[in-house]
Amino acid sequence: MDPLVEVQQLQVFYPGKNKLLQKTKSVVKAVDHVSFTINQGETLGLVGESGCGKSTMGRAILHLIKPTSGEIGFAGRNLSSLSASELRQQRKHFQMVFQDPFSSLNPRLTVKEILDEPLKAHRLGDEHQRLEKIHHIMEVCGLNRTYAERYAHEFSGGQRQRIGIARALILQPQLVVADEPVSALDVSIQSQILNLMQDLQEEFHLTYLFISHDLGVVRHICNRVGVMYLGKMAELATTEQLYANPLHPYTKTLLSAIPVADPRLRKERIILQGDVPSPANSPQGCAFSSRCPNVMEICKEIRPDMQQVTDSHSVACHLYV
Ligand code: SF4
Ligand code: MG
Repeated sequence: MDPLVEVQQLQVFYPGKNKLLQKTKSVVKAVDHVSFTINQGETLGLVGESGCGKSTMGRAILHLIKPTSGEIGFAGRNLSSLSASELRQQRKHFQMVFQDPFSSLNPRLTVKEILDEPLKAHRLGDEHQRLEKIHHIMEVCGLNRTYAERYAHEFSGGQRQRIGIARALILQPQLVVADEPVSALDVSIQSQILNLMQDLQEEFHLTYLFISHDLGVVRHICNRVGVMYLGKMAELATTEQLYANPLHPYTKTLLSAIPVADPRLRKERIILQGDVPSPANSPQGCAFSSRCPNVMEICKEIRPDMQQVTDSHSVACHLYV
């Protein structure tokens, strides 16, 4: 499979606030030296606790935020080398589905107006052609075309997320970054939206970056999964490998917290000591060293690099060197 997205040594830093002095002094390393690829047509999951950098990563890939350093290639091109107008042209190839369908849709616009906006911005067709496109995308997203004249606020959460997905797909993108697309929805609605996303992926040959803190959801929809901790990639593997044979102590902790119905399959839950350190104050050496149950002396000094354990399984941990 060819990579659609190639992320190389990406860093995204923000100035942090020093609360006592009210000065911007420290540096928040939201994403720190992360490399991976997203293959054409796959769903790559990014998981980790809130603040681990997965949303920042998604936004950087969409060029909604500028990386501090590193490169992001899209379909073989380095997008940071493009001019602003070239980048605007490229934008239609990568779109985003947001977490909260209640705040990400303008309540004063009708569904038609919401879906027409990106078409107009990219000057795609006359009014009649655009309306055809709008009706078509509504139907494939499970929205009756008679809803076009209704306002976003008139819909339920699940239907609003269908509108959000329709808006992301109307420009026929190649890549969709979905940032917690079902976490704001009722569990009964979640699987409908996930099934819709899978159907649309097949129909439109989409590639997904699926960001979530919910390992149950990720297992259901992703081909491969990357686990992030404190701005760094801890482990990256096929979904099967990651769930059957997690290597990184942090991944093991996350997996031990998933509720399992069958008591015979239940593993003992690993409880971590302490809180996630602030990304402005990440430990020296391994980022997980302040909480890792397997910590060794070397972990506190030297940061582990990502190592390939098999063709499709990498881990950043001194236990596997
Ligand atoms: Fe734990 Fe050390 Fe591995 Fe980090 S490198 S996860 S501290 S064993
Ligand atoms: Mg987030």
